[in-house]
Amino acid sequence: MKANCWIAPNNVAVEEVPDPQILNARDAIVRITSSAICGSDLHLLQGYIPAMRKGDVLGHEFMGEVVELGHGVQDGLRIGDRVVVPFPIACGNCNSCERGLYSLCENSNPNAAIAELAMGHSPAGIFGYSHLMGGYAGGQAQYARVPFADVGALKIEDDLPDEKVLFLSDVLPTGYMAAEMCDITRGDIVAVWGAGPVGQFAAASAYLLGAERVIVIDRFAYRLRMAREKTGAETINYEETDVMDALREMTAGRGPDACIDAVGMEAHHASPALHAYDKGKQAVKSETDRPHALREAVLSCRNGGTISAIGAYGGFIDKFPMGSFMNRSLTMRSGQCHVQRYMRPLLERIRKGEIDPSFIITHTMRLDDTPHGYDIFKNKQEDCVKVVLKP
Ligand code: NAD
Ligand code: ZN
Ligand code: ZN
Repeated sequence: MKANCWIAPNNVAVEEVPDPQILNARDAIVRITSSAICGSDLHLLQGYIPAMRKGDVLGHEFMGEVVELGHGVQDGLRIGDRVVVPFPIACGNCNSCERGLYSLCENSNPNAAIAELAMGHSPAGIFGYSHLMGGYAGGQAQYARVPFADVGALKIEDDLPDEKVLFLSDVLPTGYMAAEMCDITRGDIVAVWGAGPVGQFAAASAYLLGAERVIVIDRFAYRLRMAREKTGAETINYEETDVMDALREMTAGRGPDACIDAVGMEAHHASPALHAYDKGKQAVKSETDRPHALREAVLSCRNGGTISAIGAYGGFIDKFPMGSFMNRSLTMRSGQCHVQRYMRPLLERIRKGEIDPSFIITHTMRLDDTPHGYDIFKNKQEDCVKVVLKP
């Protein structure tokens, strides 16, 4: 089959690779009908997440048709079913899964020992997300093996098009979890750093959960326009306006009740000198991640407020404003999304028309064109927000 493979930093290519096989009783093989490129793939592309190997198949946002089933798959999955696959691989019956913490499944990362060295304890395996997270082949491909398919595949029984349900695999639940972690109460003001797919869905979800005002921060005018037009958020362009001043002004001097970092480890800084500081440290590996948005979110948040860190980090950061965080009684919550927990309720909201996630799609292309998709998504060209691939 054909698949989009990681070759080297900043180099992906569509190559012929062996077809996936059923390896375990609870596996399914899915013929992929739609797959997307995620902001997390950019961190892998640029080599910021360790343990990528030449030839690794990328992609963790996909859906398709079940074409083969292991004999142990329960829960009524049948050949021919249309399914959306969540990005964390989860067994459904370990201690973490039973608590609903699916991205922390204790049974799905065969390389847990390496992850423990880096992180203390291991998170779950993730499709196409480095050998640290299990070395699973991803879904930017014609077929994928889906382990624990009875927990990890949501059957779509009505005729909703792929475009409306595909993002249940990742960015819609992720944006929703980002907003949920803010514990929003009526009247709250929520600020969101990053107007990518995750930031767009975090903003839309914050309104769904009762926020009074949502303020989205980015530097790309076309992404901020999408946030205003599609989610109803107010926006700040951080290249034109000082973010902390603007947020103080918009919140009667107090700061937003909750601040969502939907940027993660490759944050950009409006000041070239400060950008160079983090970029330089990252280059010599004296910090692995550039946490500018996170720092700003901490400093901007109101006293006693909440930081929801949904953007991805890989390792270690520098100059975290711990004094501000501690003295002002802030709370920080975080995590890879526990997608399985949110898929059914969010599918219900899509069915009822409360949200139509397809608004983020700006590009649809053939699997063969995936490297071009990475290019325009990475460089924010052609007003790209989300690329959907049709294998
Ligand atoms: P994206 O690259 O499309 O969006 C990131 C946005 O952040 C860009 O528009 C960029 O201009 C903006 N940005 C950069 N520096 C900024 C700054 N200082 N202030 C404000 N905005 C800034 O990516 P995406 O697909 O939306 O993903 C966003 C993050 O979420 C990534 O780190 C990704 O890995 C992560 N993610 C996490 C999970 C999870 O489960 N926790 C799931 C999916 C994605
Ligand atoms: Zn993702
Ligand atoms: Zn588990």
